[in-house]
Amino acid sequence: MSFPTDLEIAQNADIQHIRKIAAKIGIAEDDLEYYGKYKAKIPLSYIDEQKVAQSKLILVSAINPTPAGEGKTTVSVGLCDGLNRIGKKAIAVLREPSLGPVFGIKGGAAGGGYAQVIPMVDINLHFTGDFSAIEKANNLLAALIDNNIQNRKFSLNIDPRTIVWKRVMDMNDRALRNIIIGLGGTASGVPREDGFNITPASEVMAILCMSENFEDLKTRLGNIFIGYTFDKKPVYARDLKAEAAMAILLRDAIKPNLVQTLEGNPAILHGGPFANIAQGTNTIIATKTGMSLAEYTVTEAGFGADLGAEKFLHIKCRSAGFKPAAMVIVTTVRAMRYHGGAKKGFFESPDLASVQLGIDNLKKHVENYIKLNLKPVVAINHFATDSPEEIAFIQEECSKIGVKAIVAHEFTQGGAGMTELAEEVVNAAENYGNDFQMLYEVNEKVEVKIDRIATEIYGADGVVYSTKAKNDLKVICDLGLDHLPICMAKTQKSLSDNERKIGRPAGFKINVREFEFAAGAGFIIPILGDMMRMPGLPNVPASEGMDIDKFGNITGLS
Ligand code: ADP
Ligand code: MG
Repeated sequence: MSFPTDLEIAQNADIQHIRKIAAKIGIAEDDLEYYGKYKAKIPLSYIDEQKVAQSKLILVSAINPTPAGEGKTTVSVGLCDGLNRIGKKAIAVLREPSLGPVFGIKGGAAGGGYAQVIPMVDINLHFTGDFSAIEKANNLLAALIDNNIQNRKFSLNIDPRTIVWKRVMDMNDRALRNIIIGLGGTASGVPREDGFNITPASEVMAILCMSENFEDLKTRLGNIFIGYTFDKKPVYARDLKAEAAMAILLRDAIKPNLVQTLEGNPAILHGGPFANIAQGTNTIIATKTGMSLAEYTVTEAGFGADLGAEKFLHIKCRSAGFKPAAMVIVTTVRAMRYHGGAKKGFFESPDLASVQLGIDNLKKHVENYIKLNLKPVVAINHFATDSPEEIAFIQEECSKIGVKAIVAHEFTQGGAGMTELAEEVVNAAENYGNDFQMLYEVNEKVEVKIDRIATEIYGADGVVYSTKAKNDLKVICDLGLDHLPICMAKTQKSLSDNERKIGRPAGFKINVREFEFAAGAGFIIPILGDMMRMPGLPNVPASEGMDIDKFGNITGLS
């Protein structure tokens, strides 16, 4: 019999009423805001800063992934189940999926195999409506901007050619990337060039994920930079008095969503900013809620440790005051083959020679975080095609640099296949300490901050700035935003800014093509390549393989 699909496993699960899951972590039934039987929102009052300070945060990141993803979410869910199996009160706190990838190429993001969060279909489709609320808040601001341009009486004198605020929608729809709005004569607005981004690329998403409470949310929304007036003065969302109305639309979206793993352990899914142009991690509120309710909080930072973990530490941890107690770096044997030069079509068969070369990618990520005083544990996410020789080689090489590499069997065995990793994570959290060192201080010069990340994390020799980047940087300084942390926008496929440079590249510089900034979310975004803010669908979208029968049962979601 072939291995069941993720959807089959999820649909056959023995799902419990969410009140039972809530009871396990001490949430009173009366405090839950139900979304059906299996999903509920948790009130913000469950954040307890004292408990947050005592709880242990486990950061899961990865090597530079192949396009399929190397299993951070799957390992995070499995690790949560594994920790619970060895008697630790653990919770997984993760991002919620975007509809774009669900119907596009990558599929959902609720884990896989026997390490999933459920109800899988609900989580992947609309969930509790957070993405829709973010979209509406974003588009309210867009409507207010165009209304102000139309309005002669209370005009802010906005120059339509300078507007950087786009509309958003949670769908892969490349035809909306560049559009003209305001056609149809004087009653229908002022024509201007506009465009749509996908919802996870909205700054509102990034803001929701950085906010501590409603006040902070409003301040950050008000700080969104929109563009300039005709006399070159900056315009912010607060100039349109937009922030309170936007926050009202986010009234429910700000509350974390409780669901469960296949093994009936609690999981919170909340927020989902892109990992390339934004911070790529769930909300600070959700992380704090998890830490208030459990002894161990397992969380994932999008893409590889060069992007996700670096931003998690320097943006999110700095802002929220977190210090991870342990770090897990997920690798797969197939990704090691890929980084060692195995050609497309050959990643799925044993190839020790390629693994011997590709291991350098893993080692670089491990060394980076040893330098920052986080001693990572490596999780080898096990695939059926891994050979014992390849696994033994990875384990030996890791032990040479002083870290343990443990085979993670969450996909086929769930929590039972994760107890060894769970024991080692507990050991790391209890014995290695958590005096993680920041690579840079926010008050250092922007170029210094970027240089530190490029040389220390990527292994670059330096940074080259285009003329446009230098001009953009001047604008950032003029607006007084140069004290913000850095949110690198770079390919996830390589440690460098060139996706073809696999393994552990050396002798390269990174190129900052331009800068953007998120004045509300609170970071400066150096753009190192072409960044996709509105993806397209592939030739054969996943949607073609989906169905719903007369009873409402869904098939073909992955
Ligand atoms: P990431 O979070 O790193 O992007 P995911 O955990 O979402 O990766 O996994 C990516 C895909 O790979 C998912 O479809 C998942 O079902 C699948 N997958 C993960 N681990 C395994 C494994 N050990 N064996 C087979 N498939 C796996
Ligand atoms: Mg993931």
